[in-house]
Amino acid sequence: MLGQNYIAGEWTNGTSEIENRNPSDLTDLVGTFGQASADQLEASLDQARVAQVEWAAYGMERKQAVLNAIGNELMARAEELGTLLSREEGKPIAEGKGEVYRAGQFFTYYAAECLRQLGENADSVRDGVEVDVRREAVGVVAIISPWNFPTATASWKIAPALCYGNAVLWKPANITPASAVALTEIISRQDIPKGLFSLVMGSGRDIGQRIVESPKVNAISFTGSVPVGKGIAMAAIQNLTKVQMEMGSKNALAVMDDADLDIAVAIAQAGAFGSTGQKCTATSRLVVHEAIHDQFVERLVAGAKGIKVGHALEAGIGMGPVVSEQQLNENLAYADLGRSEGAELVCGGARLEMPHDGFYMSPGVFLNTTNDMRINREEMFAPLTSVIKVGSYDEALSVVNDTNFGLTSGIATKSLARATHFRRNARTGVVTVNLPTAGTDYHVPFGGRGDSSYGPREQGKAAAEFYTTVKTAYISAGTPL
Ligand code: NDP
Repeated sequence: MLGQNYIAGEWTNGTSEIENRNPSDLTDLVGTFGQASADQLEASLDQARVAQVEWAAYGMERKQAVLNAIGNELMARAEELGTLLSREEGKPIAEGKGEVYRAGQFFTYYAAECLRQLGENADSVRDGVEVDVRREAVGVVAIISPWNFPTATASWKIAPALCYGNAVLWKPANITPASAVALTEIISRQDIPKGLFSLVMGSGRDIGQRIVESPKVNAISFTGSVPVGKGIAMAAIQNLTKVQMEMGSKNALAVMDDADLDIAVAIAQAGAFGSTGQKCTATSRLVVHEAIHDQFVERLVAGAKGIKVGHALEAGIGMGPVVSEQQLNENLAYADLGRSEGAELVCGGARLEMPHDGFYMSPGVFLNTTNDMRINREEMFAPLTSVIKVGSYDEALSVVNDTNFGLTSGIATKSLARATHFRRNARTGVVTVNLPTAGTDYHVPFGGRGDSSYGPREQGKAAAEFYTTVKTAYISAGTPL
């Protein structure tokens, strides 16, 4: 089935194929992958409609067993599937394995949630009538996922979608099809109705656009860029399709004068350069108090220069390549833009020549930046971070909040009072204290404000809001209660 789509319960050839190459070594062909046709999409949607009704009627323990089996297999095969993920996406192998293991945890978490679907019961305002409020599946859910966490992002959407009784049609990013086929292969072997789950690969502009315009789709969960997200919302509204979108951000870490510098430097570096900066939660602005600015910068720059960039599957590397040539060119353009705006690129931000032909770039730090520069306002998705010097905590908070986005923010401080004030006043969906802006748990809500997110939160119990619809039933016993 390598390279095939999973259409209406059958592994099926595409109508054309794309090549998928390892960004760490372009001579390494990961595979060729079929592009689904419009007819295959229609067949998947039609079968999904039928399968969803059957799946919703499965007992809760039967659904739980399916989700547990998927999750346990992902965790057991984290080494093998993490290696495949790193090979096609370029993140260091430890991160690849960690991602697949985490994907498994999403399934086992929602396996347990299958048993926790309690509703509400109330007396009616009318005598002799009771009210029962329960959640039911939305129907056919389209999941459109990005390449940067190809297995985890898809899993934190697929697991709750199935848990709450929906059918799933998954369009992964075309840059990371191998991970998508691997996850689908596991799901396809489970005790699920034929066609409940479909894998429909193809470019976003072609098959993706058809999906979001289809009246056969009841809900769309999307993670990706802001412009594409806005386009999806416009298309979805034509059919009044429910949407949930997690998009970009411009996350800031405030480093205060009382911060533990070891912690501050470590979390800044992890947040800025982890996964080559290709995270929606990446730390791209470092808002640093002037009293410790020089010490912090000296250590941060030394740390960035010390990051070993290399082939994702090589032991001991700190950062892999950028995912694609297009993304690398955009990153290099941002490095040039920063310089032209007056920022000082003190290290990195350049293409690296390595023994393997790949999309390598050195981690870069901009100094002397102001928050109105484009490099501090636009999502770069690059191993580039900017330092913005401030004179006080109040100024730091105001810079952190001065953005169109609002996904994550963090503060490095030893002061409980400042940490508490920051937690309450940072205008982001996620706030961290003495921790990187990246790195979240699976049992609690995830999402942001402003241009970062739209619609209900993802993950944890919050996911029920999107993947279910509420039904209110009025019951009369025929006689007064
Ligand atoms: P996109 O938003 O273009 O892609 C995300 C997903 O949407 C992919 O599966 C893509 O398919 C699909 N898609 C694209 N166009 C459409 C459409 N018209 N209708 C339906 N689906 C569509 O992000 P990119 O991958 O191009 O990355 C560009 C930038 O987006 C990055 O540099 C980064 O700034 C941001 N981004 C943010 C992410 C986040 O986690 N917040 C994740 C990824 C990107 P396909 O790729 O196959 O064309």
